[in-house]
Amino acid sequence: EFAVATTEKHIFRSKLPSISIPDDLPLHDYCFEKLPEIYNRPCLIDGATGSILSYSDVHLLSRRAAAGLHRLGIQQGDVIMILLPNSPAFAFAFLGASFLGAISTTANPFYTASEVHKQAKASAAKLVITESSHIHKVQDLGVDIIVIDEPVPAGCRSFSELLSADENEIPKVDIKPDDVVALPYSSGTTGLPKGVMLTHRSLVTSVAQQVDGENPNLYFHKEDVLLCVLPLFHIYSLNSVLLCGLRAGSAIVIMKKFDLVKLMELVEKYRVTVAPFVPPIVVEMAKSEAVDSYDLSSVRMVMSGAAPMGKELQDTLTAKLPNAKLGQGYGMTEAGPVLSMCLAFAKEPFSYKSGSCGTVVRNAELKIIDPETGAPLLRNQPGEICIRGKQIMKGYLNDREATEGTIDSEGWLHTGDVGYVDDDEEIYIVDRLKELIKYKGFQVAPAELEALLIAHPKITGAAVVPLKDDLCGELPIAFVVLSNGNEITEDEIKQYVSKQVVFYKRIHRVFFIEAIPKSPSGKILRKDLRVRLAEIAQNG
Ligand code: AMP
Repeated sequence: EFAVATTEKHIFRSKLPSISIPDDLPLHDYCFEKLPEIYNRPCLIDGATGSILSYSDVHLLSRRAAAGLHRLGIQQGDVIMILLPNSPAFAFAFLGASFLGAISTTANPFYTASEVHKQAKASAAKLVITESSHIHKVQDLGVDIIVIDEPVPAGCRSFSELLSADENEIPKVDIKPDDVVALPYSSGTTGLPKGVMLTHRSLVTSVAQQVDGENPNLYFHKEDVLLCVLPLFHIYSLNSVLLCGLRAGSAIVIMKKFDLVKLMELVEKYRVTVAPFVPPIVVEMAKSEAVDSYDLSSVRMVMSGAAPMGKELQDTLTAKLPNAKLGQGYGMTEAGPVLSMCLAFAKEPFSYKSGSCGTVVRNAELKIIDPETGAPLLRNQPGEICIRGKQIMKGYLNDREATEGTIDSEGWLHTGDVGYVDDDEEIYIVDRLKELIKYKGFQVAPAELEALLIAHPKITGAAVVPLKDDLCGELPIAFVVLSNGNEITEDEIKQYVSKQVVFYKRIHRVFFIEAIPKSPSGKILRKDLRVRLAEIAQNG
């Protein structure tokens, strides 16, 4: 076989110069490195209560959380599960675990009990931090449960009690750059959700790639007020809002859950300057007439990521927020997560095109390959996007095969996304090779829904694929094969799934077919089903 070697002309880099990135600092020390300069500056603002915590408060409370977790027996290398909506407690728990050399696995608090169990068991979580309304999902895990609200239900511990621990009780730990600190779950290019091992080095590198240096990709500074509305359990918000915000010394306004009117009130009240969003929020803002009744003139950057945003949408919102630059970033949990970012956010900005995902971050290499042959491609040719750098994951937890299927022997992480790089180094995503479905930026793994469907006694075959949707991006829909002589309605199947999954994994349509098309090796031919779906959509 004729293999094309990857040479310099196939490798895309940032237009900004490389920077020096600390390689030996644990994540918490890196985030608080400039503490003496910002000691009394506002750090976390609780949007619900209006309480404002300074950098010194957040540092202290995170260290107390560490001492409290240590008292409960959490040691270096242990995993804790954070099952929380956005709240200051989320930050203390995550940073507290980091101080101990422990690992946080973050999960959606709206997960059903079975979804929480799968992740808690797979990650071997030794303790869960949650709200009392979610404890029924974790009670039979047999681990300590800590709740952040009052009153504390019987059998649980209180987070405020944890925070009363003496910060000087944190044991001395020797944290190595390659130690894992965050363990979000992602299905990656195929199969079920897996634990993504992000190390201190990965996250320090990723944050530095965004906000460090003379002319950072993301110019966050001390005067900035960031809006943290995207869920912190997803790495986009944890990294690009919380960790980047802390490193830059910005104030971070925490919003528990999305509500457009509340969001605009908070923007007006706290003079928010930076708003990291996902496309569905951009859609709502672009459509809303209420936008005109608020003073949103403080906003200077709106970032969108986690799912595609078209040029038209980008232009509509830009027209509504004349003081703001609106640009996209492109991330994937496994990549740390940021691969590229719009350079309009740099301190000395470059011009950029609407619809592009920006250029690759500094200190990283990106290439585009032919998905069939693996041969590297030149600019303007679409192919699979691959990324290399210290920010990418160490691998999937306890899953060597999946790790080797994603990161090749030369260190390239294969994203499963199809895109190209244009003459101005800008990246455009045009398609997805992988199975993943994205509903409003949330991950839906078809394999997970297929396993649920097949577990139904009347179903013998199932395949789940995305249906394009203007508001949600994509909706999961199912093709189902029934066992002989059995009957079940579309609604019954939808309800059967709904009971077991978080809202965004619900199946929106069910089509009954004779057989699921499969390759000789047994792989579902998802492309064929997508074509079939397009035909169905066209014929009504
Ligand atoms: P996650 O791991 O949940 O962050 O999902 C990562 C995937 O989301 C990527 O591999 C892409 O398929 C998709 N994605 C993220 N950002 C963008 C973007 N700006 N445009 C298009 N797709 C995106």
